Amino acid sequence: MNIELMMLGGAGEIGANSCYLNIDGHGIIIDSGLHPRRRDSDALPHLELLDERAVDTFVLTHAHTDHLGGLPYIMKSLPHARMIATRPTRDLIEIMLRNTIKLLKIDDTAGLPSGALDYYVPAMLDKFSVVFESVLYNEPVKLTSDRAIYNGASGKSTSSSSINLTFHDAGHIIGSAGALFEAGGAAIMHTGDVQFSRQALLAGASLPRHHLDCLIIECTNGADEHPRSYDEEKVRLAEFINHIVNQNGSVMLPTFALGKTQEVLKVVSNLMNAGRIPKLPIYTGGMSKRISKIYDRYAHSVPRVEPGFQLTSIPLTYVKYETMMSAKFFNEPSIVVISSGMLNEGSPSYQLAQRWLGIRNFGIGVMGYQDSSTPGYALLHSERDVEFTMANKTVTRACELERFRFSAHAQRSELLDYIFETKPKHLFLVHGDPAATASMSAAVKANFPDMNVTIPGLGESHRFEI
Ligand SMILES: [Zn+2]
Ligand SMILES: [Zn+2]
Repeated sequence: MNIELMMLGGAGEIGANSCYLNIDGHGIIIDSGLHPRRRDSDALPHLELLDERAVDTFVLTHAHTDHLGGLPYIMKSLPHARMIATRPTRDLIEIMLRNTIKLLKIDDTAGLPSGALDYYVPAMLDKFSVVFESVLYNEPVKLTSDRAIYNGASGKSTSSSSINLTFHDAGHIIGSAGALFEAGGAAIMHTGDVQFSRQALLAGASLPRHHLDCLIIECTNGADEHPRSYDEEKVRLAEFINHIVNQNGSVMLPTFALGKTQEVLKVVSNLMNAGRIPKLPIYTGGMSKRISKIYDRYAHSVPRVEPGFQLTSIPLTYVKYETMMSAKFFNEPSIVVISSGMLNEGSPSYQLAQRWLGIRNFGIGVMGYQDSSTPGYALLHSERDVEFTMANKTVTRACELERFRFSAHAQRSELLDYIFETKPKHLFLVHGDPAATASMSAAVKANFPDMNVTIPGLGESHRFEI
């Protein structure tokens, strides 16, 4: 069986993630991301690299913007491709792209390929999800191709390959899936973003652990093992909240709307129910309300730590962007779980920070990864009562600050365990910065010197037989 793999984006970084996979003539694109910051030609997948390669199927592993944000570009460029995702992922497409369209309106997009944003208009929003075939976990779908195709350097050929695609729960966010392709007795797995351990809400990945011929695996946390466990972080968060509340202050937890908000709401609610922190009012806002509804819709069909648990059972107050600057949490101790996670300019968390920073008895808990260009990064590296620049504004932080890490990505040791168990003949390390992929590559080679380990660069064509 002839395989070709080529990264169209997100090689050596977490960016416009997109991977082209050709299995015996059947062309598949896995994910189509929008880079979180860049608005030049690297903002979207490099579809021009496909040259005249066949694209029959588009597979979406989950609905985070770095995997989904380039979907309108794919749909415009490859209208004939069959589109497949899990049901929750399909339900999230419209919400997430509505937000993407809003962001792109503010950004300077002059550096993008001409026409690339033609479908990024509100009028198209209801059309994106309807073209998707939505499937359940663990139920194989047949991908077939029997038309004449032009197969790159090997010339014209006719493919009659029969390929099964099966989604497996990746435990990262609602609907996230690892994609397993099986054809002619061979198995190829793309993990998407994966979390093997349970979080507060989701139960953790259940990817197949049999032998794989080829494995494409994410490496977000590949550089080093995080020293503290999820439970230890919970203890630290409880201490921080108690400390701020004891001085009559409120705590803001800036979080990503999809995934992190729902997990952090569950963490906070668990701490309250266990009596580890007082029962305080919890506020949230932005698009997380609609996303939480989708979490609840699949409470019984997507494995979670407490089977059937619904986020609507947590008493929450939703605040509107227009009125949040005069909300009650400025007057009474409260917890505010609000997007964006990196305090991007114009987001609710950024707006609230303008006032929050100046209140000495208040606290901000930075919850996740902060890209170096973001206001969240500047805040994280700020010193109390010392001026610093946040989104081109000079500010001073009087409030308290703490960093927490509730990762939705697998730890380095879990990634290595998965590789060592499935013993792929061909291993591709993706979705990680150079330090992460290099460190993973060295660890794998030390244990399995004969394994073909590749850190694929953008546009490099990797051809092999399995
Ligand atoms: Zn993700
Ligand atoms: Zn990702």
